Amino acid sequence: MNTKTGRIVIALLGVSSVMALYSFARPKAPVEADSSYRLVMGTFAHIIAVAPDRRTADKSIDAALRQLQNIETLMSYHRADSELAGVNRSAHKQPVKVSKETFEVLQKAIEFSRLSDGAFDVTVGPLVDLWRRAAEANSAPTDSELADTRSKIGYQNLILDANEMTVRFAVEGMKLDLGAIAKGYGIDKAVEAMKTCGAVGGLVDVGGDIRCFGKPSKGKTHWLIGLQDPNDKIENRKSKIENSIGMGAPLLVLKLTDAAVATSGHYRRFAVIGGKKQSHIIDTKTGYSSDKLASVTIIAKDATAADALATAVSVMGAEKGLALIEKLPETEAILIPAQPNSGLIKTPGAEKYIK
Ligand code: AMP
Ligand code: MG
Repeated sequence: MNTKTGRIVIALLGVSSVMALYSFARPKAPVEADSSYRLVMGTFAHIIAVAPDRRTADKSIDAALRQLQNIETLMSYHRADSELAGVNRSAHKQPVKVSKETFEVLQKAIEFSRLSDGAFDVTVGPLVDLWRRAAEANSAPTDSELADTRSKIGYQNLILDANEMTVRFAVEGMKLDLGAIAKGYGIDKAVEAMKTCGAVGGLVDVGGDIRCFGKPSKGKTHWLIGLQDPNDKIENRKSKIENSIGMGAPLLVLKLTDAAVATSGHYRRFAVIGGKKQSHIIDTKTGYSSDKLASVTIIAKDATAADALATAVSVMGAEKGLALIEKLPETEAILIPAQPNSGLIKTPGAEKYIK
């Protein structure tokens, strides 16, 4: 080898070893996997996982879906074989042993009942049943039916034993309905499972209640989440195809990282009974549905809190509801009054999440 050729070979070797080193040192771009829409917890779930490789991302999605299915099996109000149904059948006769998940949800439920002075109350079950029967008969319950049903309600009558992990009802006819908190709890469990599997980012959306962590792939810095306009009726729109599964057009877009968002509102589910709208969210103090606000969106650190507080504030109304949210750290609210075109009501801290 003459000196000139030698120099070129050394130069090439130099370049390739630098390249080898560079590709070794440079972190690989994370990949994103998407579950598409899956039917779970009586609604659609959509999961996105960001992970160092495809296999980890797929594994994270499977683990998240398993968690959501597990929480549904434990806490469904409608399935006769759920753990909750067993509690509702027997907890007045004797203490009923439950899973650590159900016990934890009930502990948190009591915490949110105390915080909201009973506006949030998972012992609402007998009222939910009363109004379901009323909807079937298209006739509102009588005052005495309402008073009798209300006497079976009150979180103070829910007795938890942390040593034995048991649940007991102090009043006969009590019934728990975890519909206002189980979805949020399931989302938190799903996020936990994804992180354990090695996901570095992700989003779990169950029926519009969402928690995200880390960052999306492709250099994006935030997760963007559209907030539905409750007054945007499908029949008012020029194009009915622009949004899938009956969703309204987004009213505003939230940009989030490591946060949860949940929305409650009487626009979401209601029945017309004897010509009057009855929403699925009930004020246990009156026995009637609470329709002061069209929708309540809560941003919080975890989805359990966002879910429970969105229901609580729906019952409490704007004034008391905002006063509660302002007291809580890292928690914000965006409220839409029932009166159309009356604007939004927000906590001052909510602004930083609005794109
Ligand atoms: P959400 O959509 O999270 O506001 O939950 C509403 C569901 O929670 C209803 O369909 C009922 O099953 C249940 N629920 C109704 N009123 C209350 C209440 N005041 N506290 C707790 N749960 C409630
Ligand atoms: Mg809720």
